[in-house]
Amino acid sequence: MAPSHDETPFPTDPRGRLAVAEALRGARTIAAAGHLPLDGDGIGSALGLVHALRAAGREAVCVIGGPVPRNLTFLPGIADAVRLPGALPFVPDAFVALDGGDEDRFVPMLPLARSARHFLDVDHHVTNKRFGTASWVDANHAATGLMVLGLIDDLGLPLTPDAALCIYVALVTDTGRFSYSNTDPASHEAAARLLRHGVRPDEVLRHVYRSLPRGRLDIAAEVTRRLATSPDGTLAWSEVTLAMCAEAGVAPLDAHDAIEVPLALGGVEVAALFREQERGTAEPAATHVSLRSTTTFDVAAFAVARGGGGHRRAAGFTAQESPAAAAARIVPDLQAAVVHHRATEVGR
Ligand code: 5GP
Ligand code: MN
Repeated sequence: MAPSHDETPFPTDPRGRLAVAEALRGARTIAAAGHLPLDGDGIGSALGLVHALRAAGREAVCVIGGPVPRNLTFLPGIADAVRLPGALPFVPDAFVALDGGDEDRFVPMLPLARSARHFLDVDHHVTNKRFGTASWVDANHAATGLMVLGLIDDLGLPLTPDAALCIYVALVTDTGRFSYSNTDPASHEAAARLLRHGVRPDEVLRHVYRSLPRGRLDIAAEVTRRLATSPDGTLAWSEVTLAMCAEAGVAPLDAHDAIEVPLALGGVEVAALFREQERGTAEPAATHVSLRSTTTFDVAAFAVARGGGGHRRAAGFTAQESPAAAAARIVPDLQAAVVHHRATEVGR
């Protein structure tokens, strides 16, 4: 994610970029996958790369390791992707892990990734752990999709309309439709280029942000009803429980965007969404915690300290408890961290 205008740029990684491009150039067979849980940037990056490689006559396949969010099932190439535990048509020389800062975001794909000669980690998270045999990590990019666009150029691959569409979806979802602080001139320049390669923004809007099932709107209403705030109003949080999802007929993964509800409230500086995760009957409760910051408060640091990761203004982690228990434990910590941040910032 690109730094916002009030923050210093991140280091670039030209050597990582060269190493990844070199490995891809030499690989006869390539598999690409987005991190789990799948999102627009992860899957858009993987499919975009695969479309461009195939258009150049290369053997490439997209690997899907978990459920695809409903609003992304329209992406071209989804039907041809290999869904694990399905078998690949080849043993990949290179496995490209996209948009995931940590190996643990690719768990079902790890045996496959580790068996490849090259395990390539291409990512824009500042918290990336450089887990590949080669890693290209550059947090100056608003989306990993833009790094894929860079690789397409480095390798001289054709930017087909399908590749352009997938990369556009990566970009539009990770920038919050070109509105988050990571939106920079490069995001808009890339968007212009992608539009020249056939992308129809209104079609993307229709598929990604509209076409919602009624239950998704019911979830938003319930998330709003359960919205809680700190006494000073700078912290807002809510929850998505499995019971809410069952009632609304919506998969928890498809309620991920509900973080926009607490974030939309005036005066909010830090928003959190506690989203209960699907699990087997014998498994204990687990909750995905999404965090967003509208100030210089670094939610990535907060998430890393709890086993997660992300960007300075958008990060997350998993808590091994119910949403209510997670909120009761984590909100006070978050509040204390924000107060501490304010105090140290004033002192600077
Ligand atoms: P979200 O709240 O939308 O799930 O995640 C916000 C950002 O933090 C995304 O860039 C996402 O990849 C990252 N993130 C969320 N959860 C985790 C996690 O458990 N581990 C790591 N490494 N990153 C995460
Ligand atoms: Mn991303």
